Amino acid sequence: MFGLIGHLTSLEHAQAVAKELGYAEYANQGLDFWCSAPPLIVEDITVTSITGQTIHGKYVESCFLPEMLATRRIKAATRKILNAMAHAQKHGINITALGGFSSIIFENFNLQQLPKIRNITLEFARFTTGNTHTAYVICRQVEQAAPKLGIDLSQATVAVCGATGDIGSAVCRWLNTNLSVGELLLVARDRDRLNALQTELGRGKIMELNEALPQADIVVWVASMPKGVEIDPTTLKQPCLLIDGGYPKNLANQVQYPGIHILKGGIVEHALDIDWKIMKIVNMDVPGRQLFACFAESMLLEFEKWHTNFSWGRNQITVEKMEKIGQVSIKHGFQPLLAFES
Ligand code: NDP
Repeated sequence: MFGLIGHLTSLEHAQAVAKELGYAEYANQGLDFWCSAPPLIVEDITVTSITGQTIHGKYVESCFLPEMLATRRIKAATRKILNAMAHAQKHGINITALGGFSSIIFENFNLQQLPKIRNITLEFARFTTGNTHTAYVICRQVEQAAPKLGIDLSQATVAVCGATGDIGSAVCRWLNTNLSVGELLLVARDRDRLNALQTELGRGKIMELNEALPQADIVVWVASMPKGVEIDPTTLKQPCLLIDGGYPKNLANQVQYPGIHILKGGIVEHALDIDWKIMKIVNMDVPGRQLFACFAESMLLEFEKWHTNFSWGRNQITVEKMEKIGQVSIKHGFQPLLAFES
């Protein structure tokens, strides 16, 4: 069985969803209530591959909200993730994806050192960040969407916002070796990590976001921002492809401007319908078929019976592993989302 640990994008979003799903006791509550709410299994899921194989899974809502980080409720945030992991393990789930901020919190606060949750000792091999598949999908989105806009990748300048992160660094590795793009702009805050990435890649210009944006033909957004940034579309090149893989979104404003094309990053489309509510709740355009690539990773590991933490730790994703997960992604009927936002 596979599991998906997810969370909503804001308190407002969480209240609306609780109301819609019939959890009246959650719907009118403030952040303090959500800080103390236990994890919930919200949905049982069945997925069928194009090979004909069928698997079963569960969606675990951690009740974590990004506002917990913004208001320094760190203990509540870490407890949410550990409790959700313990909940998944207690229910016998073999492989569970840590969606969105779950793996970021796990890494940033060294939760590996706290494996004991009451009477459960977490077995980390049962969890995956899902980031290898996410990075693979984003790279395929770059590769497949750019030519549609007349962008020649061999000449293109690609900015990666969040370049030193787990997903960002993997995207940079792929762009460097498999696509050899014209120019790579590396955007993040910590200078030492940027220098280390630049040394590893043997290329890339380190830049502030505002300096990088007007130079980029393509921007890959994979920064771990609890709240998105506003950008001024008049400063961007035309055409410009923006691939927003953040959850919550890195882009705060709905950019609608001639020549600017936006893709939801790290999203896959399955060839067959999945009977679930959860992707409607996170506003997927085709909720029966579209899902986060990290969630799809745990499905793929279940299909292949690779019950292991395929993606784990930070900045260890290799191009070979991305290719490996990419092969089984295609085999089971997942495709990168290529429909531009309108
Ligand atoms: P990491 O924590 O590993 O990396 C985050 C990166 O963002 C770092 O390079 C960090 O560097 C940078 N960053 C953070 N804040 C800022 C800022 N204000 N300006 C510029 N750079 C910033 O995160 P992940 O790689 O695991 O995840 C990245 C994003 O992808 C998250 O939003 C996450 O929720 C989302 N995600 C999406 C998935 C999907 O399926 N679509 C799956 C998993 C994650 P520094 O701190 O030095 O600035």
